[in-house]
Amino acid sequence: MVLTQGIHGLLQPRLSRVAQVELTELTTELSSVVLCHDTPDKRVCRLTNKMLSNKDFYSNAFRHLHTQDLAAKVWRSAAPLKCKIFSWPAWKRRLPTNERRFRHRLADSGLCPSCPLEEDVDHLLLTCPRAREIWQFFNFDLGARGIAGFPALFTNCCRNLEETTVVTAILWNIWKRRNSLVFNNQDEPLMMVTRRCLADLRLWAHRCTVPTSASMITNWVFSFEPP
Ligand SMILES: [Zn+2]
Repeated sequence: MVLTQGIHGLLQPRLSRVAQVELTELTTELSSVVLCHDTPDKRVCRLTNKMLSNKDFYSNAFRHLHTQDLAAKVWRSAAPLKCKIFSWPAWKRRLPTNERRFRHRLADSGLCPSCPLEEDVDHLLLTCPRAREIWQFFNFDLGARGIAGFPALFTNCCRNLEETTVVTAILWNIWKRRNSLVFNNQDEPLMMVTRRCLADLRLWAHRCTVPTSASMITNWVFSFEPP
């Protein structure tokens, strides 16, 4: 072979079957391309005819997946990213609650640290008496509205960005209160949690890009603050 084809015939990298097919497809695509040497190169995404971005790439890669309208609400709020990242596993029921930790043999008990029931995501954030008192303080009567799970919460209480921001602040502070009890053995009183929740919302209102959204959140906060 060396005598007939020379040493380069042996040194060429060999392509896998898949790579060979891709190379053939690419060569076929390129065969119809006519280069204009006077025109500067322009790199665009074929789907959008704009510069390729990570968003376009992910949209294209996952375009076959069904979009969950309610789940998308998690990301449409003025809350900081860390709170949205907390809300997402809560929505997917993957928060490290005692029920989940017990199921994965990471805890001795799956019970709630505040009451004798099992601590799953819906219990921790919605139906536990400790969570209920916070919702009731803010006039969310979840029991009367038949809300015992996340889909119902997002359907009934997150109809726009402002409402989702308020709900996220309440969920976030219920979670912080629970962790304070579990990890620091500190039983935070209701007023402490609600005040922190209102302080969060006052701050998050500044994150709104639309002034009317900011003033709606601020007005909501004012309605719960002492005169
Ligand atoms: Zn409980």
